[in-house]
Amino acid sequence: MQASEEVRREDGCLFCEVLEGKRASYVFFETPTGCLSLDPEPLSELHLVYFFKRHVTNVSELTDRELKDLNIIYKIPEIFGDADGPYRFWIKSGDGCSRVSEHLHYHIIKNSKAFYNEDGSSKIILDRSSGFPRLDIPEEELQSICEELKTRFETYQSLQPETY
Ligand SMILES: [Zn+2]
Repeated sequence: MQASEEVRREDGCLFCEVLEGKRASYVFFETPTGCLSLDPEPLSELHLVYFFKRHVTNVSELTDRELKDLNIIYKIPEIFGDADGPYRFWIKSGDGCSRVSEHLHYHIIKNSKAFYNEDGSSKIILDRSSGFPRLDIPEEELQSICEELKTRFETYQSLQPETY
């Protein structure tokens, strides 16, 4: 991993453990201050996570550089040829918003028909406590998807060399 401006990690944090190589990593793309990863237990066929290289817990702590690098997530629909979506971008900032990890991270999720009831109303899938079923993808397949995404994002980066 590239060095971030300031190393700030917390013991027992899922994302810090990935950054320290103590936990399986599905990171396929890095900016100077953040990582794009596959969610290994996805809600839909395309479910990515962007997390910062510093252990920050609130959006108010983000630096200008971190905010600039974050722009990669808004390119994801375009990178997948779905510029018009639909995608969901989720972030939980600060205490009291029932998050699984305090380490600031975005979920980027391509919409799925499974998110809706037959009458068209939306199911509640905001966090793990909602019990919404996750897709069960074998480890080998996760690694193969990671390789495919790595190539896809490197190709994008090579076309935008001054961005990241
Ligand atoms: Zn952390």
